[in-house]
Amino acid sequence: MYEELKGRAAVVTGSTSGIGAHFAEALAKAGCKVMLNGFGDKDEIETLRARLAADYDTDVKYNGADMTKPDEIKGLIDDVYSSFGSVDILINNAGIQKVSPIEDFPDEKWDQIIAINLSSSFHTIKHSVPHMKKVGWGRIINLASAHALVASPFKSAYVAAKHGIAGLTKVVALETAEHGITCNAICPGYVHTPLVDGQISDTAKARGMTEEEVKKKVILEAQPTKEFVTYEQLNGFMLFLASNAGAGCTGTAYPIDGGWTAK
Ligand code: NAD
Repeated sequence: MYEELKGRAAVVTGSTSGIGAHFAEALAKAGCKVMLNGFGDKDEIETLRARLAADYDTDVKYNGADMTKPDEIKGLIDDVYSSFGSVDILINNAGIQKVSPIEDFPDEKWDQIIAINLSSSFHTIKHSVPHMKKVGWGRIINLASAHALVASPFKSAYVAAKHGIAGLTKVVALETAEHGITCNAICPGYVHTPLVDGQISDTAKARGMTEEEVKKKVILEAQPTKEFVTYEQLNGFMLFLASNAGAGCTGTAYPIDGGWTAK
């Protein structure tokens, strides 16, 4: 659909699972060279890498950089450049969640969430922008959340990190606007990924509800459509932002949330 994406070098942090894995596949399908990243079973990651490379006849590599470690993050971007010859599309997607009342919120979880969900994007962007400026083209897409725009109780670190991403997105857009680079944030509502599965059980504990009650009264309550946002809906918008048609969009946080933040 977007011919201009063929041969572009893309990196998706946290692409061994959920939204990131689907983004990596959508980019490979569009003809991009893709660097996978994230944790997980070694054999399963290799199976994913080999499948994407074979199915879409493109280069797919894996780098296991830990998004809490700035030197490994620099290594990831260096690896994209030395493997593919450019760093064209950066998708900051890696993220974790913890649901707990603030008075019980573990200090180390706060630090870990801020590191993975916010600071890692500072580091990837810092090291990618020079490559993008050199060729006068780049796309930076940050996976934020409806929680970059509104809050929910018991998610202090997550909401703080995602609001931070919305601010970082604006600053980077302003700094790169004259260099053919765009920087935007996608703000999904609930998507049924492994991360949300974990949240359902944590929320059930925090609120004293059953998991079925959480799905119905917390998740479906938040989203007026009463349906999860799908991978296909996110892929379509991500590819638009990455395409030439998305060149006029920069510095914005776009909700894809079934109407959640309209309330
Ligand atoms: P997921 O748990 O399925 O995937 C998270 C990915 O991040 C995995 O590949 C994991 O290995 C990786 N990761 C975790 N810690 C890492 C680290 N230290 N270094 C490198 N990689 C690491 O989650 P998901 O639901 O697909 O979430 C992806 C992104 O979308 C996150 O930023 C999340 O906040 C955001 N998001 C998700 C939803 C949702 O409903 N699922 C809604 C809004 C925003």
